[in-house]
Amino acid sequence: MGLRIELDESKCSGLGLCEAEAPELFEVRDDGSLDILDATPSDEHRAACEAAIASCPTEALRLVES
Ligand code: SF4
Repeated sequence: MGLRIELDESKCSGLGLCEAEAPELFEVRDDGSLDILDATPSDEHRAACEAAIASCPTEALRLVES
């Protein structure tokens, strides 16, 4: 079992609320696109990951258990 973060780029507006919650996982690039620094985070990052996903106003992020 692992975690995978999926991004729907068409929904992301680059506001960076996810980065504010979990800067170790997300970084908004200078051009406003989002860089997922670790798309398959370890379980210790689950809480931060869920908080970041919940903070996204456009529901661009999704956490998949794989
Ligand atoms: S919070 Fe959502 S819309 Fe904002 S940068 Fe992150 S994924 Fe994109």
